[in-house]
Amino acid sequence: AKEEGRNTYRLYRAEMHVEDHQHLALETALRNTAETGEGLDVHYQPLIDRDSGEVKGAEALLRWHAPGLGEVSPGDFIPLAERSGLILPLGRRLMQLVAGQLQAWREAGLTPPRVAINLSARQFWQADLVDEVRRLYEAHGLPPGQIGFELTESTLIDQHQQAVATLAALRDLGCHIAIDDFGTGYSSLSYLQELPVTTLKIDRSFIRGLGESRGSGAILAAVTGLARELGLRVVAEGVETEAQLEALAAYHVTLIQGFLTGRPVPGATFRERYLDRTTA
Ligand code: C2E
Ligand code: CA
Ligand code: CA
Ligand code: CA
Repeated sequence: AKEEGRNTYRLYRAEMHVEDHQHLALETALRNTAETGEGLDVHYQPLIDRDSGEVKGAEALLRWHAPGLGEVSPGDFIPLAERSGLILPLGRRLMQLVAGQLQAWREAGLTPPRVAINLSARQFWQADLVDEVRRLYEAHGLPPGQIGFELTESTLIDQHQQAVATLAALRDLGCHIAIDDFGTGYSSLSYLQELPVTTLKIDRSFIRGLGESRGSGAILAAVTGLARELGLRVVAEGVETEAQLEALAAYHVTLIQGFLTGRPVPGATFRERYLDRTTA
C-alpha cells in the first residue's frame, strides 16, 4: 500500500507538471497576443427591445484564437488575463477594435446601436480609465453614449465613493452603465440607488429556471420591481427558448439578449444581419 501511495503521488506530481506547462504556454501566448493583437477578434451579440423587436444595443465579446493552440474560450483566458494583469493591454486592444469598428460603420453611413464593453475590476480601477475612454471617443469621432460598459457587483462594492465618482464621469460622456450578472453577487440592493448606473442585466441562471421552478420567478419579480422603482432598464440575459421569452412577459424587462434572439457573431455578420437592413 505504501508503494502504491508513492506511485499515486508521483502520478499526481506528473499531472501537475503537465498542467503547469500548459498554463505557462497559454500565458506566454496571451502575453504575445497582448503585445501584437494577433488572434484577437470581437463578436457582437444583439440586445433586442422586447416590445418593438428592434436592435437597441450590442455586447462586445472578446474572442481569442491562440496561435498554435487554437480557439480558447473567454471563460478560460479572461480569468488568466485578470490574474496576470494582461487584462489591461488586452482590454485596451478590445476598446480600440470596438471603437474602430463603430467608426467604420458610421463612415459607411450606418447607424450602429450602443455597444457595451465588459470591464474587469482591474480595468475599472485604473486611474486613467475615464481619460482613456474620452480619448477613444475623440479619436474615432463617436457620438456621446456610443460605447457603454458592463461591470459586476463585486467590482463596485468596495471603495463605494470612488466607484460612484468614476461611474458619474463615464455617465457624463453619455455612457450607459450596466451591472452584469445581477443577482449572483453580493445582492445588497440598497447600494444600487446610490450608483449612477442605467441598466441591470439579470444573470441567466434566473432565466434558465423560468417556467420551471417558482423560486426564480420570485427573485425575478423582486429584482425587476426594484429596477422599475429605480428607473433602471432591465436586460434578460441568456434567453434560449420561446417559453422563457413568454414567461418574461410578466416582468418589467426592457431588453432581451440570448441565443433565441441572436448569438454573438463577427462584426461583418452583425452588419449584414442588423445594420444594412435598417438603413437601406
Ligand atoms: P458575460 O459578460 O456574462 O457575457 C455573456 C456570455 O453569455 C457570453 O459568453 C455569451 O456568449 C453567453 N451567452 C449569450 N447568450 C446566451 C444564451 O442564450 N445561452 C447561453 N448559455 N450563453 C449565452 P462568452 O462570450 O463565452 O463570455 C464569457 C464571459 O467572459 C463574459 O460573460 C465576460 O464575463 C467575459 N468576457 C468576454 N469578453 C470580455 C472582455 O472583452 N472583457 C472582459 N473583462 N471580460 C470578457
Ligand atoms: Ca457582460
Ligand atoms: Ca452577464
Ligand atoms: Ca459573466
